[in-house]
Amino acid sequence: MVKIAVIPGDGIGPEITNAALKVLDSLNINLEYEFFYIGYSRLRKTGEAISDDDIEAIKKIGIALMAPVITPSPKEVKKYRSPVLTLRKELDLYVNLRPVKSLPGIRSIRRNVDMVIVRENIEGLYYGVEEKCGNGYYALMVITEKNARRLAKFAFNYAKNHGRKKVTIVHKANVLRKTHGLFLKTCLEVAKKYPEINVEDLHVDVASMFMILKPEKFDVIITTNIFGDILSGVCSALIGGPGLLPSANLGDKYAIFSPAHGSAPDIAGKNIANPIAMFLSAKMMLEKLGFNGEAVRIEKAIVKTLKAGIKTLDIGGKASTTEFTKAVIKFLKEE
Ligand code: ATP
Repeated sequence: MVKIAVIPGDGIGPEITNAALKVLDSLNINLEYEFFYIGYSRLRKTGEAISDDDIEAIKKIGIALMAPVITPSPKEVKKYRSPVLTLRKELDLYVNLRPVKSLPGIRSIRRNVDMVIVRENIEGLYYGVEEKCGNGYYALMVITEKNARRLAKFAFNYAKNHGRKKVTIVHKANVLRKTHGLFLKTCLEVAKKYPEINVEDLHVDVASMFMILKPEKFDVIITTNIFGDILSGVCSALIGGPGLLPSANLGDKYAIFSPAHGSAPDIAGKNIANPIAMFLSAKMMLEKLGFNGEAVRIEKAIVKTLKAGIKTLDIGGKASTTEFTKAVIKFLKEE
């Protein structure tokens, strides 16, 4: 029996979590779930979105499947402990791995997209310090050599082990000369140990342009926290919508798998959310747990469902979350 922590989250979170657990249950592998009700609903009930006990219990389990949580507005909650940022920091999940791959049967601005974003996950502009400065505020952007180095090692090892040929470092070192300068320099140093991998570096504005014009230019991208966040948004648009991108938050000890999209409160409770990003996040979790065959089966079943024309509203179909999930499970059982 393998135990995983499950965080159903807020907004569409509980719907897509429920769907993902049904898919996992249909695989007949021995997974045991421990649920953690972390996030906005919890904050409303108890005054805190996440506790130290949650963090310790999740650490003990080591691996989690997490749906998105709602972030309250600063007006509503003045001092907010974000569960996402807290978990990333406390579990030292310094990598955010986001594979971006076109799926069949979905209208999109580009076809045959296949790249992987390796986003720095605990530093940069999302370090979490904003302070008053005169009449305004400043936000701290932190880049450390240690973190840039281990992130770059991860990206190059990933490229090497997955038959990827090129790593593009995306930065803005021409303006942020010290912080991004260090990020770029460190990544280029690590690159020297991987002569078989082509390396290029691009300013983020140029990278954004090429991402739309020539996505085939990219293979593995390594970038800072905020740029990775924004470029993922561009990538989900490229392949057809927000409900398609999975992610893995990885450290040396722990891992949390989670869709790249938010909690979509505008469509919550309507049974229309696209569960694909959550299914693909569960697939990445299975790979981490060593259930590689089952992971492949999930992806194949999603592809078959889409090819059969069964799609949720956001990608041009009429299927509800439940109908889409049922179809995926049917194709899984046929595998
Ligand atoms: P957060 O602050 O939680 O990141 P957000 O509003 O910035 O939230 P999303 O929650 O990702 O961002 O929502 C952006 C848009 O994408 C919304 O219109 C939402 O309905 C849509 N969306 C996000 N995820 C899905 C999904 N899985 N299925 C369908 N639509 C989605």
